[in-house]
Amino acid sequence: MNAVPESKTNLLGLDRQGLAQFVADLGEKPFRARQLMTWLYKRRVDDFEQMTDLSKNFRERLKAIAEIRLPEIMSEHASSDGTRKWLLRAGPAAGDVGGEQAVEMVFIPEPGRGTLCISSQVGCALDCSFCSTGAQGFNRNLSTAEIVGQVWLANRELGVAPDGARAVTNVVLMGMGEPLANYRAVLPALSIFMDDLAFDLSRRRVTLSTSGLVPQLYKLAEDTNVALAVSLHAPNDALRDQLVPINRRHPIKELLEACWHYLDAQNGRSITFEYVMLDGVNDQPEHAIELAGLLRGRDAKVNLIPFNPFPGNQYRRSSREAISRFCDLLHERAIITTVRRTRGDDIDAACGQLAGQVADRTTVRLGSKRINLAVET
Ligand code: SAH
Ligand code: SF4
Repeated sequence: MNAVPESKTNLLGLDRQGLAQFVADLGEKPFRARQLMTWLYKRRVDDFEQMTDLSKNFRERLKAIAEIRLPEIMSEHASSDGTRKWLLRAGPAAGDVGGEQAVEMVFIPEPGRGTLCISSQVGCALDCSFCSTGAQGFNRNLSTAEIVGQVWLANRELGVAPDGARAVTNVVLMGMGEPLANYRAVLPALSIFMDDLAFDLSRRRVTLSTSGLVPQLYKLAEDTNVALAVSLHAPNDALRDQLVPINRRHPIKELLEACWHYLDAQNGRSITFEYVMLDGVNDQPEHAIELAGLLRGRDAKVNLIPFNPFPGNQYRRSSREAISRFCDLLHERAIITTVRRTRGDDIDAACGQLAGQVADRTTVRLGSKRINLAVET
């Protein structure tokens, strides 16, 4: 992942429209864009030489001005349960004298699906007080090609499942960064994930998680229809101001209005509200009751995430009892709630009434952040 300026266009950064423009600028017929997409995404070819139904002349021109550049893997880790993590090189941005950085992506296999958690930025500027990405500060945005390249690369690394299906069936933007703060690069990536000529994922299999950039949420409602996860984490502004500082600019009422607008505009099934459980901070019964009041009667689900501590951070994870009590209070108020299951710390049992009612959830660690998969099939 090297964003040092260069003259070649990385074709992984162009959605269908962008590729159409690219071939038109070369004086080629529109169907060339379809051919290129088929090579890139259906046949997973990253070498122009192998694109045999393109004329030799066109291939030569492509080689001169374009490239198919994938993120570079720095290291890989596989766990016994099949979860895999890759550390990807994120070179300095153009003109940036800063050193080298990395982003992580994580693949979580489950029966019938494989979810890839990808990053949208190197670091994050939003500085949520419980987040290790926030603690490292903002370095730079990833480009569209770097975002798309993660899914491309994971599919290649994972190979094809025995039934011929692609390895990655779901994509969640829950890795490093705030995707709506990198709107310009993220939007074409979403389009490529869902394009039937590319990854061909349904809208419900692509989830964008945001801490709540309200103007961009309204824009998102116009531009796409992916599944939405919103990092709420607190039921009132006084508390959310402390945990998610962007709340000072876009308070809860405005955020929720933007969420309901998104559902209306997109005919979406529901929004998942993520809620990190911080001991003694936001995990008390009154918080659950207040939260239920915000969401009652709406197409909303709550996903309770046991806080994942990291060095230098002030918070502690809520106790199992506090989490299960919180979950019960929401459940009694007819709010569909799931609790993140963590290995060796199975708190789902305390919320047993929900079994079978909710989608499977999995938690893995990304750096010191818990990745929350709220993915519907
Ligand atoms: N910036 C986006 C997406 C990336 S963060 C967002 O904030 O939604 C993905 C999820 O991980 C968010 O719900 C975030 O609140 C949560 N998260 C961050 N740090 C965490 C931690 N230490 N423990 C548990 N969840 C955390
Ligand atoms: Fe950024 Fe999300 Fe972390 Fe907040 S929780 S600092 S928005 S990555």
